[in-house]
Amino acid sequence: MLTSAPPFYLQVAVPSPLHRSFDYLPATEQPLPELGMRVLVPFGRSTVVGIIVDVRSTTEIAADKLRPIAQVLDEIPLFNAALLALYRWASSYYLFPLGMALQTSIPKALREGKALSPPTRQVWQLTLANTEQETAVTSVPKLGANQQRIVDLLRLQGGLSTRELSALLGKSATPILESLLAKHVVQKASEDLPTNRDAQLAQPALPLNGEQQQAFVHLQQHLHHFHCCLLEGITGSGKTEVYLQLIWQVLSAGKQVLVLVPEITLTPQTIERFASRFHARIVAFHSGLTDKQRLQGWLEAATGIAQIIIGTRSAVFTPAANLGLIVVDEEHDDSYKQQEGFRYSGRDVAIYRANQLQIPVVLGSATPSLESLQNALSGRYHLLTLSARAGHAQSPQISTLDMKLQPSYAGIAQGLQQKISDALGANQQVLLFLNRRGFAPMLQCESCGWVAECLRCERSYTLHQYPAALRCHHCDAHKPLPRQCPLCHSEQLNTQGTGTEQIASYLQSQFPDYPVLRIDRDTTRGANQLDSILQQIHSGIPCILVGTQMLAKGHHFPKVTLVGIVDADSGLFSADFRAQENLGQQLMQVAGRAGRSEHAGQVIVQSYYPQHPALLQLIQHGYGAFARQLLQERQQGQLPPFTYSLLLRAESPQRAEPLQFLRDALSHVQAQGLPLQHFGPMPSPFGKRAGLYRGQLLLQSSRRLHLQKLGAALIQHFNTSKISRKVRWTLDVDPTDFN
Ligand code: ADP
Ligand code: ZN
Ligand code: ZN
Repeated sequence: MLTSAPPFYLQVAVPSPLHRSFDYLPATEQPLPELGMRVLVPFGRSTVVGIIVDVRSTTEIAADKLRPIAQVLDEIPLFNAALLALYRWASSYYLFPLGMALQTSIPKALREGKALSPPTRQVWQLTLANTEQETAVTSVPKLGANQQRIVDLLRLQGGLSTRELSALLGKSATPILESLLAKHVVQKASEDLPTNRDAQLAQPALPLNGEQQQAFVHLQQHLHHFHCCLLEGITGSGKTEVYLQLIWQVLSAGKQVLVLVPEITLTPQTIERFASRFHARIVAFHSGLTDKQRLQGWLEAATGIAQIIIGTRSAVFTPAANLGLIVVDEEHDDSYKQQEGFRYSGRDVAIYRANQLQIPVVLGSATPSLESLQNALSGRYHLLTLSARAGHAQSPQISTLDMKLQPSYAGIAQGLQQKISDALGANQQVLLFLNRRGFAPMLQCESCGWVAECLRCERSYTLHQYPAALRCHHCDAHKPLPRQCPLCHSEQLNTQGTGTEQIASYLQSQFPDYPVLRIDRDTTRGANQLDSILQQIHSGIPCILVGTQMLAKGHHFPKVTLVGIVDADSGLFSADFRAQENLGQQLMQVAGRAGRSEHAGQVIVQSYYPQHPALLQLIQHGYGAFARQLLQERQQGQLPPFTYSLLLRAESPQRAEPLQFLRDALSHVQAQGLPLQHFGPMPSPFGKRAGLYRGQLLLQSSRRLHLQKLGAALIQHFNTSKISRKVRWTLDVDPTDFN
């Protein structure tokens, strides 16, 4: 196709905050580039990488304003039409510019305009002298049994990676390969990745129990069209086993599977589980990858080489040649919602994508989000339930401990301390959960009541002991511990409340013979710190784990038999309407870490309000009943998921400006005449952060479409209004964070 024939205009999405694409002319005398290819285009005074999102025969741009593209960067498109359509939808639904949405999710090398090359992999081969004649190898003196096995495997199968060789050998092949390398028997090489490899089972599937079987059969009947299922199954009920068996069906049919998981800490275990079940090409996307690894994985997924694609939120946009199934594990997890820039929900985009491709999507959780639960109860999704633990593990016993009735030290009541002592004595492990790191959340003067506060956030500093400092958990501010009160000069400064650091140091003093392992953002900053702590836990020695929500997610701790929830109360009395849902999820997720093997688990929930109806409901009847009760309350209050919301936020160093801006926005909203409710403008609950004053306007409607229209109208208005230049504004569709 040459461009000389009819007029063609290329609509190009460029990384610009403007909510529109730009038209360009094709370069003369060059083949017309296709949809989804990258091009270099002049933009303002510079040249940028853009992506062709449409090819049209008309344009609204005046002929003398149109410029030709500078260069076509790709020979084959980066995005196919379906993926472009997904981005288009997400961009308009989440009110975020298409060009930026496209570019934030592709690997850096591609964003910078580097050429695409076919994916390769590193393998081991026999050196030339050893490939043909059997005698050549035997002539090498003293090949050990393992060395000989590797040589035989390579001769039989050609190039194999270290990982594959280790799997075949049943142990790490690295030292053996190194010795063979030193003897010049093997060499490293890179080879093109084979497409269409048949996946194979590496381990037999477990025989499913009744409920698993029912779920599996249902899912299997819906493999060839769009079908959204919520798999509601308590921790350890065997959800993953159901995914694995379903995935096997899809792999056997030659299709790819996309598995979304919440966070990096979860990813290694999940990958391990998949890798040991299947001989299949698995690529994983998480924040720990180098740019090169990310590009390689992306290409493998795009070309269909990767059979299983596992990743966190952004992996939902991974191109895939032949996708057959999407699994969203722990679908309730907050991390699926991006809280900055392109504020999409990975779970919701996954559902849209499955619908678009006419493939099934499975949402799994022990503690489903109220959104998904409501969709399942109303029949939009199909609800599948696993109500008992699989295998031999029993569900833990949960009980409350009334903090009013007994003394406590460092936030640990005497009764709980006794139980810790018993568990350690019985050679078992203990897990204590408190979602607050540091030593204490507040430092206060005894005589005048002064509180050490971050001026940029107007919130109290958290006291840290090692290293000693006051740290603001809302911005980067920190300063040395004061010796005396700056107001009255008293030296009587006391801490209020407890954090993980304090609990760990108190328990270490009480149980000096046992390791106390703390897992929070402070103790896991280094690359392998978390790994080494997890290794100690998995060695099975009796110990105490103290941690924040990092501990609550996904990990399996088979030796933990006692779980202590240090503070259940902060979630009971919060202004945030989602606080109780989050408390329930967190509490059940932490409880789910206990007793995952032969020992039954016990969960102790410390509270000053053990008779609180929400807490009672959760503990006596489980998350399922608790969540259904919350749904009724949400319905009565016309809160999400029974209404849709759009949150407009604004921030500025000037106190008055966010509210001025929001008032102007509200009058523009009202001028549209759409039926909706508004709350605000008002200062955000978190009224000042990192030196910026913050305000918000919440818009609610029973119709998504109205909010969409309104969002688009507001963006247009902000593009021209003067006051919008004084603040930083953001629009958040289906917000989950109201701070
Ligand atoms: P979930 O994903 O719901 O937390 P898993 O799939 O991880 O549950 O299963 C929990 C444990 O039970 C795992 O050790 C798993 O191997 C085991 N398990 C799962 N299904 C079965 C089964 N049908 N028979 C025996 N053990 C099972
Ligand atoms: Zn004072
Ligand atoms: Zn601060």
